[in-house]
Amino acid sequence: MSDKIKIKFWGVRGSHNVFGDEYKKYGGNTTCLSIEIRRKIIIFDAGSGIINYGKDILKNKKNTELNIFFTHTHIDHIQGLMYFTPIYMKKYFINFIGSAVFNASFSDILNNIMDHQYFPVKFKQTGSYKKIYEIHDSQIVIIREDNSNIEIYNKNYELYEIEENDIVISCMHAINHPVGGVNIYKIEYKNKKIVFATDVESYAYGDEKLIEFSKDVDILIHDSAYLDEEYKIKQGWGHSTPEMAAINAKRANVKKLYLTHHSPDDTDEIVDRKLKIAKKTFKESYLAYEGLEIDL
Ligand SMILES: [Zn+2]
Ligand SMILES: [Zn+2]
Repeated sequence: MSDKIKIKFWGVRGSHNVFGDEYKKYGGNTTCLSIEIRRKIIIFDAGSGIINYGKDILKNKKNTELNIFFTHTHIDHIQGLMYFTPIYMKKYFINFIGSAVFNASFSDILNNIMDHQYFPVKFKQTGSYKKIYEIHDSQIVIIREDNSNIEIYNKNYELYEIEENDIVISCMHAINHPVGGVNIYKIEYKNKKIVFATDVESYAYGDEKLIEFSKDVDILIHDSAYLDEEYKIKQGWGHSTPEMAAINAKRANVKKLYLTHHSPDDTDEIVDRKLKIAKKTFKESYLAYEGLEIDL
């Protein structure tokens, strides 16, 4: 079995879907990223991009164990969940990993978004076997090769062992996304590392905590929602410019930077401009687009 990490972007749009020829190149679906390693399927966020991934899983994958991590539960990161067909099917074992927001537990949030006020089927009524886990800053999730149940530890004060084929996902909670913050995840497998940092607003000179968390990783996927002109109006909204992303990538010494969470106002021509801006600071910058696949 190949040890490759297969990454695919199923949605790179922020806020809401967009349609039309001027968005063709980067796509209109909201955030969803898949990572496949050996028999494991790991999904980050359930924006509308997850709908197409669900179809792909049914058609092309033998895997029946899915792990869905949520960076946060803003609507553009959960809106596809109820149309993700595997959740209705008995043969799927699905781990849901995310965080509470203020007084709503992560389980409450999942149950609320699929309830009769909004949707004909309740989350609880869906056919798959589901486990819900809450995750916090400084915790790690271990996905073991022969176990569908995941393990969660605090990396600072709990003892755990990592075996050769384990996938380790660390959580860094960032407060720079209103109002409840956002989880940034680092995926590690056999010395390869990817950081997924969507919906983050960086700081002047760089985000020190994120830079430390992303040190020397192979791939940093970073929010880059706004060009400077838009950022000036939307400062404090929890998103970065391509330059901010590039500063973090450069200071963290990552191998490659992928820009994502494009504003719904950004036509293909505007997104293209972001790459030129990022490259001025960090040469190994690339644009994430819907359908992009990376083998690591
Ligand atoms: Zn978002
Ligand atoms: Zn958000």
